[in-house]
Amino acid sequence: MSASSSTRRPGYVGRFAPSPTGPLHAGSLVAALASWLDARAHGGKWLVRIEDVDTPRCVSGADELILRQLARCGLFPDEPPVWQSRRGTLYEAALKRLHTLGLVYPCACTRREVEEALVALGVLHGRFEERVYPGTCRAGLHGRPARATRLLTVCGGIEAVVSWNDRRSGPHRQNVAREVGDFVLHRADGLWAYQLAVVVDDGAQGITDVVRGADLADNTARQVHLQRLLVLPEPRYLHVPLVLGDDGHKLSKQNGARPLETREPLGALRAAGHALGLPELHASTVPDWLQAATLAWAQAWL
Ligand code: GLU
Repeated sequence: MSASSSTRRPGYVGRFAPSPTGPLHAGSLVAALASWLDARAHGGKWLVRIEDVDTPRCVSGADELILRQLARCGLFPDEPPVWQSRRGTLYEAALKRLHTLGLVYPCACTRREVEEALVALGVLHGRFEERVYPGTCRAGLHGRPARATRLLTVCGGIEAVVSWNDRRSGPHRQNVAREVGDFVLHRADGLWAYQLAVVVDDGAQGITDVVRGADLADNTARQVHLQRLLVLPEPRYLHVPLVLGDDGHKLSKQNGARPLETREPLGALRAAGHALGLPELHASTVPDWLQAATLAWAQAWL
């Protein structure tokens, strides 16, 4: 299906980047569909990237299951999917580059030590407060063994303050140094951190437009900061509303999300379209529904 010439944006590349922690559910289909519709409405490409760097959270076979579920819903990537677990050399090269620029440092702190340091500084009061790394290891490890690698968010006394724009919610601004602190790029367990992998891959895959769930919006300033340091182009961002579970939190396995029922893909797509604010569409097949939804999406977002 192609969009009209007025909505084409040459070079548009979008992506859906599921973590294979389980099958797609109603909430994750919303993100998949939104990114697919935006790519189609722009006459662009749509890629799928399996984000399986956090191996302890991955479920064996979930990647293939997700790809089958997407296919049942008519969502086929324009290139073969990629797996982050096979792209370590790219992440290694990016980390090396940041190292050469003097922007990363080894950190010896355990989670508990970070908490204790924050309590001692009088800045951590509650269990659920953000743990802004206090910079303990910036001045060296003092003989302690290195665990993780962190990115400096203050350089030459200048704090990283990032402004970025969301196509739905408008301008955002975050002082990454104060609100997040030096964040981890390579974890103490030897795994690559999501922030580094996502930025390196969006850059390497030429992603021009990130369309994903609103729960990921607060990672964006960190990702834009990294893009700037690595001299990567900044994609446009659109964070779409989340489907909430009965407890009012993002729908997930923990609050009862059931695997997507793809024997009835049209019903699943209709529900996802409804969550995205699309009008009721008259279509009796998956391809017809997707075509009508692309036009409705173009009217709403282009
Ligand atoms: N892998 C992430 C997730 O499934 C999405 C990352 C992204 O879209 O930037 O929540």
